[in-house]
Amino acid sequence: MSKVLIIGAGGVGGVVAHKCAKVPEVFSDILLASRTLRRCEVIQGQIRNMHGRDIQIAQLDADKVKQTAALLRGYKPDLVINVALPYQDLAIMDACLEAGVDYLDTANYEPPDEAKFEYKWQWAYRERYRDAGRMALLGSGFDPGVTNVFCAYAQKELFDEVHTIDILDCNAGDHGHPFATNFNPEINIREITQPGRYWEDGEWHEVAPMSESMTFDFPEVGPRKAYLLYHEEMESLVENIPGLHRIRFWMTFGDEYLTHLRVLQNVGMTRIDPVQFQGQEIVPIQFLKALLPDPSSLGENYRGKTCIGCLVDGKSEGKRKQVFIYNVCDHAVCYQEVRAQAVSYTTGVPAMIGAMMMLTGKWRGEGVFNMEEFDPAPFLEALGEHGLPWQVKDMS
Ligand code: NDP
Repeated sequence: MSKVLIIGAGGVGGVVAHKCAKVPEVFSDILLASRTLRRCEVIQGQIRNMHGRDIQIAQLDADKVKQTAALLRGYKPDLVINVALPYQDLAIMDACLEAGVDYLDTANYEPPDEAKFEYKWQWAYRERYRDAGRMALLGSGFDPGVTNVFCAYAQKELFDEVHTIDILDCNAGDHGHPFATNFNPEINIREITQPGRYWEDGEWHEVAPMSESMTFDFPEVGPRKAYLLYHEEMESLVENIPGLHRIRFWMTFGDEYLTHLRVLQNVGMTRIDPVQFQGQEIVPIQFLKALLPDPSSLGENYRGKTCIGCLVDGKSEGKRKQVFIYNVCDHAVCYQEVRAQAVSYTTGVPAMIGAMMMLTGKWRGEGVFNMEEFDPAPFLEALGEHGLPWQVKDMS
């Protein structure tokens, strides 16, 4: 029986709150706190109507460490699930240390004025968490998150040697809008307009944004063109999967999406630096976010599926072997269950399961950890049980 504080009432936060509410034997008390209280009220109402449970809500600006620490001292949760934005990660980690509470998130810290997401800022908390006897689990979404656990599972159970990993993320759904992002638009656009990066033979290689692509035949979806991107889970996997020769990350985009993005970039709408407008400073990408559909509003009319997985190549019993470990998720089915689309769902479910691993003691440690550092078995068992069944396809 545990108390959790969920911070962030966006697309992902809604799924985490719904899914925690559906497991009362682990999550006996739930408080959902976010910058805009109205969003918490909507989710609270859905949970009452759909699952017959009452959760508490609160207004919180998580950029303010003192405010978060005061909420933690008052509510006394066992764990904070941070599903606000990457900008809040360090402030929430500080508040957790101040109040003596464990921490979990789904995306690594990113400074607001620089589109650079790296683990170095959060890994720098290792000693402080260890000394305080607290645990922080980083990146418990799908990618990062489940993809890290798939890699750990491949290494432990399927291969003697893992040589290469290609993480493949496909959203073959249709939300009916000419252009929308599936999670926070600002974070999403910052991520995909960066140069692509992959790791090979012990070093990082950089390529121009969206300059490398390949077509992959995704199970239950079919062939789709995927583009090489930098993605944060590669940074920890190169540290934690011994013997790796190469790791890359690929994401699919439709032509329509790429055309819109190119135009927005060309006219300066994706800039993250402030510009003067009618005597006022505005950040173009923040203005663009205000115009685009809210990711949590896309669910109702979303049709189609996502398929995300890891293509792992290596050796088993002296022979070359290749497998694709993946999940397929249906947007409309997610909406029926928790009023969210599959991108929020595939992030929120692993956040709930990571929390469950920590609260039930299946994953424990003192310090700051990435997902692949723990036993993949209990996590993967729970993943299938709670809405994200996974498969291993032999591609040898
Ligand atoms: P949304 O923009 O839909 O939601 C973010 C929520 O956080 C909003 O409700 C927002 O409040 C709230 N928030 C923002 N700033 C603060 C603050 N200072 N204090 C309190 N609350 C705040 O984003 P998503 O739900 O789509 O994404 C949530 C997180 O999940 C992001 O970090 C994203 O990067 C991550 N993610 C991870 C994935 C993975 O697979 N690992 C995949 C997809 C997303 P307000 O309503 O006022 O704006």
